[in-house]
Amino acid sequence: MPQREKLYEGKAKILYSTENPDILLTVYKDDATAFNAQKRGQIPGKGEINCQITAALFEWLASEGIPTHYLDCPQPNQMRVKAVSIVPLEVVVRNIAAGSLCRQTGLPEGKVLSSPLVDYYYKSDELGDPLLTRKRIFLLNIITPDKLEEIESMALKINEKLSYFFTQCDITLVDFKLEFGIDSQQNILLADEISPDTCRLWDNKQTDSTARIMDKDRFRKDLGQVEFAYQQVQQRVLTQLNK
Ligand code: UDP
Repeated sequence: MPQREKLYEGKAKILYSTENPDILLTVYKDDATAFNAQKRGQIPGKGEINCQITAALFEWLASEGIPTHYLDCPQPNQMRVKAVSIVPLEVVVRNIAAGSLCRQTGLPEGKVLSSPLVDYYYKSDELGDPLLTRKRIFLLNIITPDKLEEIESMALKINEKLSYFFTQCDITLVDFKLEFGIDSQQNILLADEISPDTCRLWDNKQTDSTARIMDKDRFRKDLGQVEFAYQQVQQRVLTQLNK
């Protein structure tokens, strides 16, 4: 058993050190939270499913020229990643209005946006992950203008690639959240996860506005069949990648 020390426990994952200081181990949990952890529960099998979906998508994005922190999966719910310093921003890309965009602007859910919208939120549980402006990002010295440009252009490129990929899976990528890290050479790498916990995914094979939901909104809104929906996403993603 390699020596490992728990560095951080988040809502959905635990981060451990490894014998190599440049490598960390992420263990994906079945725990689910929503509304800034006011709603808590478990989705059986979620840890493995989200780890496998993330691994498959990160591997594919890397082959498409997007640098990521992903290395490999020693166990189905465990991922080895390059150690990076996480930029404290939740980078949300939206193609269709849903969730907080509708609540805060009055746009109707399902409205297709004329071009993708990139929103930045401050990663701070204490402050409730508030929406930021570019000027606030620089005011708080979160990141330099150059690096923010780089992150935005990577986020839009990832959106193009993922939207096309999910269309091939008969799934619409409504919106999703990304996190980025900076390595010791100051490279920006895609980090964290891409899974039904962090994306809104609508099943193109379903017309009903509830039946089509394949993501964490099933948990947020108590729609049931959460595990089944996550399994469906995993199956379609892996099949599309011939895995
Ligand atoms: N999201 C996330 N983590 C967060 C907040 C949002 O992964 O802490 C994802 C969420 O699953 C959705 C997208 O980011 O795919 C946009 O979320 P939104 O701002 O609409 O917030 P919500 O409606 O989830 O409160």
